[in-house]
Amino acid sequence: MSSTETRSGHCLCGAVGYRFDREPEAVVLCHCDDCQRHTGSAFSLNVLVARDAVEISGTPRSYQTKGTENGELRDRLFCGDCGTPILTILHERPELIIVKGGTLDDRSGLEPAAEVWSRRAQDWITPDRGRPRFAGDAP
Ligand SMILES: [Zn+2]
Ligand SMILES: [Zn+2]
Repeated sequence: MSSTETRSGHCLCGAVGYRFDREPEAVVLCHCDDCQRHTGSAFSLNVLVARDAVEISGTPRSYQTKGTENGELRDRLFCGDCGTPILTILHERPELIIVKGGTLDDRSGLEPAAEVWSRRAQDWITPDRGRPRFAGDAP
């Protein structure tokens, strides 16, 4: 992906969307308890983007959680109509916003650079030897 490429995404019903024209800072696969519960899946594909580069359309609802694993506050933005989790704001990293990878329109080139909270990973998941895994948050 070039730095001038714009990526966009939206929820299931389309009421909430976003776009950004900057290269993601990182793509991280998270196995933490909250990500599994929040996505209803085995892990979350978290695309970290500079917050000031992300333009949101529509009016997402927000629910604040205190991380089960690390106690940090998160604002979890979701569509109030269809319930899709779309964006997460980390209070300890306010300059970033996490885009839920599955909501992107173009999901190419999103291979994660690392996996975090691997000690919560479901037991059927085979670690990728080429990808760093951290038992908790990335150092
Ligand atoms: Zn929706
Ligand atoms: Zn997580």
